[in-house]
Amino acid sequence: MTKLIDNFNRHINYLRISVTDRCNLRCVYCMPKEGLSLIGHEDILRYEEILKITKIAAKKGISKIRITGGEPLVRKNIISLISDINRIDEIEDISITTNGVFLKKYASKLKKAGLKRINISLDSLEKNKYSEITRGGCLDDVLTGITEAKLNGFNPIKINFVPLKGINDNEIATIAKLTMERPIHIRFIEFMPVNVQNEWNNDHYIPSKKIKNELEKIAPLLPVERKEHTGPARMFQFLNAKGQIGFISPLSNHFCDSCNRLRLTADGKLRTCLFSDKETDLKTPLRNGCNEKELEEIITTAILNKPEKHKVLDPSFEKCHRGMSSIGG
Ligand code: SAM
Ligand code: SF4
Repeated sequence: MTKLIDNFNRHINYLRISVTDRCNLRCVYCMPKEGLSLIGHEDILRYEEILKITKIAAKKGISKIRITGGEPLVRKNIISLISDINRIDEIEDISITTNGVFLKKYASKLKKAGLKRINISLDSLEKNKYSEITRGGCLDDVLTGITEAKLNGFNPIKINFVPLKGINDNEIATIAKLTMERPIHIRFIEFMPVNVQNEWNNDHYIPSKKIKNELEKIAPLLPVERKEHTGPARMFQFLNAKGQIGFISPLSNHFCDSCNRLRLTADGKLRTCLFSDKETDLKTPLRNGCNEKELEEIITTAILNKPEKHKVLDPSFEKCHRGMSSIGG
């Protein structure tokens, strides 16, 4: 298989595809309550365009795909896209990040379409608080969705939890302890106040180290050897626990030197860094009829310009204009 190596010797093999910037929830740390100015219908990449880009990227060395959004399960016929991507020879792994609300309906279809792994975002186990954080979401829908995913053989289920000071930090120990008896992975993702849409600032930020210190008061956390799909998370386990605990620390312990990712936004822009608004437009050349070779060259040039690291902690850093819901996290 072709290996795509960038200027900083990183092997680029992972493409995250945001299929929509729309969402059925309005998480307080992700979207303003009135929602965001949504990308016009005409500007959203059509499935055949996403497939074309994915096939070219796959030829260049992309073997892992994650479908994200907005909420990917709100896009019509999402199962057909997943199934088509799964049929691309070079694609070895296809996964999804979802808020889980529609998993009850889709888990079995996702499995049949060839989806390998599911990450579910869940920031509270308390009904009212879940509803507050998501501005109206129903906790039971997500819990039912998780059960359905398990019943359909998705294992392990990975739960993304964004710890927010003064909001859900009282639940960190409770959710971590779930891993003692269940084969789930709880991944604590540092809150990133990096988009202009964030009404929030650093007041809610909790560094991973602080969480780890708190959890170590419960029981020692033993490091888990890295596996192929661990991604940027540093994984640990309570002694004899069935599940695992991960820390994703883009701010306090960035992982730029091993970043293998590209991101395709719902309106067809290729982003080589989550925290940089420098994007390469793929949709316009695609719609203007450029051929495969030309598109391949555009993608290669973008990758060769992938920044060495993010600048979030530089005093000169300016917040990104695109919100997480349109980049896909
Ligand atoms: N709607 C899906 C979901 O919530 O899982 C997929 C898209 S969402 C943008 C992807 C991930 O980004 C979620 O796990 C969410 O918690 C995370 N996220 C969104 N905004 C964030 C922020 N400001 N800081 C940290 N994580 C964020
Ligand atoms: Fe929607 Fe996911 Fe953003 Fe929540 S985190 S508002 S579920 S896109």
